[in-house]
Amino acid sequence: MGQHTSDGIHHHGYVEDAPLNTALSAHDRLSRLDVAEVLHTPEEVAQWLATTLRAAMGKSEDDVAFSDEWDQWVKYAQAGETVTTGLRHGPTISVVAVPEDDCRCEATPLVPVGGKKRSR
Ligand SMILES: [Zn+2]
Repeated sequence: MGQHTSDGIHHHGYVEDAPLNTALSAHDRLSRLDVAEVLHTPEEVAQWLATTLRAAMGKSEDDVAFSDEWDQWVKYAQAGETVTTGLRHGPTISVVAVPEDDCRCEATPLVPVGGKKRSR
């Protein structure tokens, strides 16, 4: 695909049941929240944000298309930037770009840490 920014980077989606102004900082989020979703392309990021927001709002795809936001989300994700959105009273929904080297999402508590990725 030639998107150099996506090499070695993927995204973690987080959903925090709190309004944006009381939500965790991006740093704390990474260490304290469980990853809700692992996303590998900017399109997946936008898709997940749209789906998660809609679910939080109780709306369907016909109600809210997020067409303006979608382009922004893809752009941010391509640039490796954190995208934070959400509803005024929560939840706060965010997507954080994570270098593969820093990522622990491939590991599970059941697998001893051995520096290897899980293969099935
Ligand atoms: Zn990860």
